[in-house]
Amino acid sequence: MAAAGGQGRIAPWGTPRLWPLPARVSVPSPWQCRTRDVLALLAALFVLLCAPTARSAEPELAALPLPELTAKLNARYASQQPTQWGPALPGTLTRLPASAMTKNGLVTVALTFDACGGGYDASIIALLRELRVPATLFLAGPWLNAHPSEAADLAADPLFEIANHGARHRPASVTGRAAYGIRGTRSVAGFVDEVESNARRLAALTGARPRFYRAATLFCDEVAVRIAADLGQTVTGCTVAADAGATLPAPAVARNLLAARNGDILLLHVNKPGAGTGAGLRSALPELLRRGVRLVRLSEAADAAGAASR
Ligand SMILES: [Zn+2]
Repeated sequence: MAAAGGQGRIAPWGTPRLWPLPARVSVPSPWQCRTRDVLALLAALFVLLCAPTARSAEPELAALPLPELTAKLNARYASQQPTQWGPALPGTLTRLPASAMTKNGLVTVALTFDACGGGYDASIIALLRELRVPATLFLAGPWLNAHPSEAADLAADPLFEIANHGARHRPASVTGRAAYGIRGTRSVAGFVDEVESNARRLAALTGARPRFYRAATLFCDEVAVRIAADLGQTVTGCTVAADAGATLPAPAVARNLLAARNGDILLLHVNKPGAGTGAGLRSALPELLRRGVRLVRLSEAADAAGAASR
């Protein structure tokens, strides 16, 4: 499927393709924000009150052998036909929870890096370690296959949270729908395998099950979002595609980082060593730290939000 939108950019998985996402996904106008908040509240109420398939995580599912788990979720979802398709469906985390970003009035943002496949920009990891900047790293199966020792090295470092970017790096579909020309998973079973087999692989790598899942290309249908929730995987989008699929030159990456606002989830890539991402980070991170910007892993933000609600 051809993508609509922008021209000549490169998508987050790194091959030359269109990149229609605006750099900032959120809408800055206060009126629009209020409208968006109201709509989000109504959507949440609908999910809570009406949608029979909206479930919270079911820990017992993760304990089932994969074939049994797949059969169970297939029975639950195979009759459901998705009607939505996009990078920020209801149930997708695109900003930090409000209660996680108000601490001391500081600007709090989350740096997230996708490792889709291909290479490894070790200079980014070295920079984060040098500056003691935490980040959440979404690792996909193709990248794990290519970089087992690097994956073990990252998993052993508490500076980083390891998150799930899918076993085969596919858009999150139950019907084979494509995004940017990349075919999504084709069925409930295909999507369960995409999420769960990589979650189990990462759990074996890190000793803890990942909590956050980001679909390749960010695109999901709503049935896939429900399945991921059942599996305890919070579908994660972004507020700002800060390196536009690792296509931006360093000054543009730096500008996006320096423009970060409270609660932003910034998406960058660690699998494109030749991109401007690394140099943009080297330029911008010291200034963000000088400003007192608080950089958090996603779990920290989620846990802070949970504590605030108790
Ligand atoms: Zn990716």
